[in-house]
Amino acid sequence: MSLIVKKFGGSSVANAERLFNVANIIVDDYKNGNDVIVVVSAQGDTTDDLIAKAKEINPDNPSKREMDMLLTSGEQISISLLAMAIEKLGYPVISLLGWQAGFYTDSHHGVARIHKINTERMKAEIDKKKIIIVAGFQGINKYDDLTTLGRGGSDTSAVAIAAAMKADRCQIYTDVDGVYTTDPRKVKGARKLQEITYDEMLELATLGAQVLNNRSVELAKKHNVELEVLSSLERKPGTIVKEKVKMEKTLIRGVAKDTDVSVISVIGVQDNPGTAFKLFNSLAKKNIEVDMILQSVGRDGTKDISFSVKRSSSAEAIKSLEEIKDNFPFVDIKCANNVAKISTVGAGMESHPGVAAKMFEALYDSDINIQMISTSEIKISIIIEEKYADKALNVVHDAFFN
Ligand code: ADP
Ligand code: ASP
Ligand code: MG
Repeated sequence: MSLIVKKFGGSSVANAERLFNVANIIVDDYKNGNDVIVVVSAQGDTTDDLIAKAKEINPDNPSKREMDMLLTSGEQISISLLAMAIEKLGYPVISLLGWQAGFYTDSHHGVARIHKINTERMKAEIDKKKIIIVAGFQGINKYDDLTTLGRGGSDTSAVAIAAAMKADRCQIYTDVDGVYTTDPRKVKGARKLQEITYDEMLELATLGAQVLNNRSVELAKKHNVELEVLSSLERKPGTIVKEKVKMEKTLIRGVAKDTDVSVISVIGVQDNPGTAFKLFNSLAKKNIEVDMILQSVGRDGTKDISFSVKRSSSAEAIKSLEEIKDNFPFVDIKCANNVAKISTVGAGMESHPGVAAKMFEALYDSDINIQMISTSEIKISIIIEEKYADKALNVVHDAFFN
């Protein structure tokens, strides 16, 4: 007998037929003598629809606390409906909101981090032989206010439960049958991977492959929770995410696209010590994550610094630089939102020079201009114009996999 944690994403529970499909998958494991804890997301586009409703009331900045109060309701609907479907099939089941399942988080509404999980209630329900359905992506802070873990956070809820309950398996069901070399909905030749390492998956997820949330991969690595990503619609093996995989003879494991990017250029800053510190310190103080940085050669005592941030933080980043202008003079700030990031990821590139050249050649052949470049041991990222993003994803993927 095993304890299995299963997570189902929004499209897997989008309507009554899908809910019964998922209920049957769960019941099959239960009938085989396993304990089963299930995490679900809100149905279909519910979370997006709730965000749109909030914007109707306050387009600028509804408070983050009230946003969490609103968004957690999406998962309350899906857990109760799924529990009803399992009841209808004749099996013992209970649905639990995040706080009922013992999820305690910090108070960063909208991006909360899990502090601890009090597993008492889940253990008690398992002892009663119940199937447990937990609302993903939510918890409670020390003031008893509801919090959410950030978009795609149900993956993290599932991994956190698997770690806290010492589950034997953690399965992430979605609308594709595994992790591919790139988004199979965008690139025809994408290939399914049998296995991928935590580190590679973490890079891909952070660089835009939304099939797994990056925090969930980080947590899985930390607690050594092996993940399986598989389809809720076809019953076949998926992709295993784990520490070490059999080496395949590929230079790179995958290609990712991220359009949630802006490039901010600060023009005419002073070319002297402390300039970069002042700029990036002001962003760090506001918790704004900076990704790529480019500095021009100094001329006549000034230079330009460009950097990329998430599109949603660009307005705050500009505001924070304008606030320090007295102590940090510059001529102008420009913000480009029409950009995208394309990245290649793979542990194999560390020992193989030429990966960057191959990537750049594919872009050159398609006449796509590169605006920024950054590299690490296992990834190369570039910024290009957003309108070429899908094209670039395809040609870079083809260069390595066809
Ligand atoms: P869920 O609602 O189940 O959490 P998501 O929409 O968050 O599902 O993630 C699944 C989607 O991720 C797929 O439909 C696919 O388009 C996209 N995706 C992006 N990159 C990849 C990749 N490398 N492998 C598989 N799917 C990917
Ligand atoms: N429902 C949330 C979202 O759409 C959480 C999730 O799906 O993982 O982001
Ligand atoms: Mg998801």
